[in-house]
Amino acid sequence: MILHKLKRENMSNRLSSYQCTCNVGLKPFTLFLKFVLSNMRMFRIFIVISTLNLICATFVYSETQLLTYFKDTEYELNVYKIKGISPGPTLMIIGGIQGDEPGGYLSADLYADMALEKGSLIVVPRANLLSIIKHRRLINKDMNRQFSITAKQHSYEDKVVEILEELITESDYLLNLHEGSGFYSDHWENSMINPMRFGQSIIADTDQYKTKDGRTLRLGNIARTVAANVNNRIENSGHHFKFNNHRTFDNNTKHPEQRRSATYFALSYHDIPAFGIETSKEIHNIETKIKYQTMIINEFIKQLGLISPNPKITLERPALKYMIVSVNGADKIVRNSEILRVNIGDIISISKVEANYPRGLTVDILEKGNLSDLHKNFELTKPLKAIVRKDGVNCGQIKININDINGTGKKLPKEYKLKSIREDITI
Ligand SMILES: [Zn+2]
Repeated sequence: MILHKLKRENMSNRLSSYQCTCNVGLKPFTLFLKFVLSNMRMFRIFIVISTLNLICATFVYSETQLLTYFKDTEYELNVYKIKGISPGPTLMIIGGIQGDEPGGYLSADLYADMALEKGSLIVVPRANLLSIIKHRRLINKDMNRQFSITAKQHSYEDKVVEILEELITESDYLLNLHEGSGFYSDHWENSMINPMRFGQSIIADTDQYKTKDGRTLRLGNIARTVAANVNNRIENSGHHFKFNNHRTFDNNTKHPEQRRSATYFALSYHDIPAFGIETSKEIHNIETKIKYQTMIINEFIKQLGLISPNPKITLERPALKYMIVSVNGADKIVRNSEILRVNIGDIISISKVEANYPRGLTVDILEKGNLSDLHKNFELTKPLKAIVRKDGVNCGQIKININDINGTGKKLPKEYKLKSIREDITI
């Protein structure tokens, strides 16, 4: 207990930045309610009914928290905690614990933006960022062999593993995504298809596990069910997934090194059913590997009782980030609400709009063109305003002002300015 408390305190120290994204605007709602209560007491009944409606609406969306550890280091660790609308089990997904297995980290990455109706997810898309940057399995030591070690050293791998161990204790299930060599088979077929290969298998440390409080975890059954349901949809029988029991607890196990793995830590220390998901390194098409990984993850999500809305519902307030404005062919980045100064007669066009939504965006240069003015050239004769809309709702704007002749940006007397401009034009 004390050790855990200490670990938790350490963890909060290491948490260099914390960001919370909540799809529902609770704050504006509270402010609105305060305003109504203080100003319109006579409409209390109406308020109560509206409040009930709003509370119902409040719980329609899933929430995501992003936790960033070791920010701006080569081993920055981003953790996405996704909470569903209704409670349910928490599934943790780890990708990229070894940097030369892109099928794992690219698959995990797809779940960071997920929403849930029921249950929770803890997604660590890139557990070992430095090894991913270098496309290497390991940097100082194999990160997936550093679990269950009480006296940690001081390498970055140890620091990351400490965080992962803490997150595992918050989970009910763990999937560790990998790519393995060859194809696993329970009998010897050839050097690439045999019991010592890992590819296309769902690994667990044992078939059944007795927890400290007397429950039996049937890991083999879960893995076999998931594999059978996924294999039904994989035409190439050579790519079918198999349950791969590492028998890590046995004295004569062929995989004693797994006693330092994340999955063994989860199961043996915390009674958490944990699986290694291995696609084969012999499958060279990365899309195929990701497809297999996601088929397995989706089936686990289904079997474990998590429910995901499809498609994800996002109603974040639309917000313009920046526009790229081409001035006489030279691109300039102009952020929301900024003023771009150009010279009279310059040809401008807006070449790109970046907002928190990729689709549904239009840009309208007021008093020019029409409601959709992207990629249109306009000659500057007077100051302009460009408005960005997402599905017709204003989400930001920039102003394009005309420089005075000196280019100082200072406002000149009107007559002087006109005269100067005229002189400029004659030159
Ligand atoms: Zn691996």
